[in-house]
Amino acid sequence: MSQVYFKRGTYQEFLAQPQKILDGIKKSGFLKEIKKDEFIGLKIHFGEKGNKSYINPALLSPLARFLNKRGARPFLFDTNTLYRGERTNSVDHIRIANKHGFGKLDIPIIIGDGLRGNDYLKVKCSQKHLKDFYLAQILKDIDFVLVFSHFTCHMLTGFGAAIKNMGMGCASRRGKLSQHCVVSPNIKEGQCVKCGMCAKFCPADAISEGKDAFFIDEKKCIGCAQCISVCPHGAVKISWSESYDELAQKMVEYAFAATQNRKCAYVNFCIYITKECDCMNKEKSGFIKDLGVLFSWDPVSIDKASIDLLLQREKHDVFKDAHPSINYLRHLEYAQEIGLGELGYKLIEI
Ligand code: SF4
Ligand code: SF4
Repeated sequence: MSQVYFKRGTYQEFLAQPQKILDGIKKSGFLKEIKKDEFIGLKIHFGEKGNKSYINPALLSPLARFLNKRGARPFLFDTNTLYRGERTNSVDHIRIANKHGFGKLDIPIIIGDGLRGNDYLKVKCSQKHLKDFYLAQILKDIDFVLVFSHFTCHMLTGFGAAIKNMGMGCASRRGKLSQHCVVSPNIKEGQCVKCGMCAKFCPADAISEGKDAFFIDEKKCIGCAQCISVCPHGAVKISWSESYDELAQKMVEYAFAATQNRKCAYVNFCIYITKECDCMNKEKSGFIKDLGVLFSWDPVSIDKASIDLLLQREKHDVFKDAHPSINYLRHLEYAQEIGLGELGYKLIEI
């Protein structure tokens, strides 16, 4: 059974003592695997412009110092986004990462799928939905991936953490598109009051004003679902059951392809938990109270443990409160089914 280490605490407590993150990583045995001169990729989300809930770089400062001292070659990395924003190309992406303080860590920042998100590593892996996977090219040469995930609720997958960080976050633009292409929203005429919010937030310029309502150009839509979350009148609809199942299962298949024959370890930050992911460029306060930080070698166990601990504490389904139409446990079950990891785990509080 996989082991999941858990350090209880709040965002402010970890910020006051970031050494606790390094201690948790040490206890979990990750550092024993790191050797001098190895390329250690710290997978992270640098946060969209205007977003405040991304993992605070100060929390990684003791780890960065430790890795540098050990003579390894650590670097931070992410991939470019499918949608048009501040992280669509490597130049703007690195600029926003620096603005969010990641440049202060004294380890380089690399965007793993090239200048425009088109540099991929093609991997064959026969799964139910996909056979060819277009991963970020950087994965080819990394010796060890340390996956730092900010646990959030999510409008498309119910929640996002380690699996999503590897599945969506390690895909090149082509890979992201092959996962998102199942999401195709439409606007209900009778419900749309033509306020224009959806068009303002659409990162693909896919929404225009029609005579009686706004409408979506399917050819331009990239399936990011931002219009669904911003419409104040619930006029943007989607077939959730079909979209969730297929998108989430494709994401799991991508996570499987990204982790095969690769040394990966996972850290979930269950603090500053928001209703949507860090791609949202709106400032948000925490939706669920802080819980702590989890560490594991298993992406399925760590995500399941994060959910279990939050549900136990909240005593009701907070994920359903956020996104009622999504049965978020199904993609974890699928992850176990295809061998990405185990739903069962042993929790060790440290
Ligand atoms: S946000 Fe909703 S109500 Fe406003 S224009 Fe878009 S679909 Fe219509
Ligand atoms: S899902 Fe909505 S916001 Fe996203 S690209 Fe399509 S129309 Fe635009």
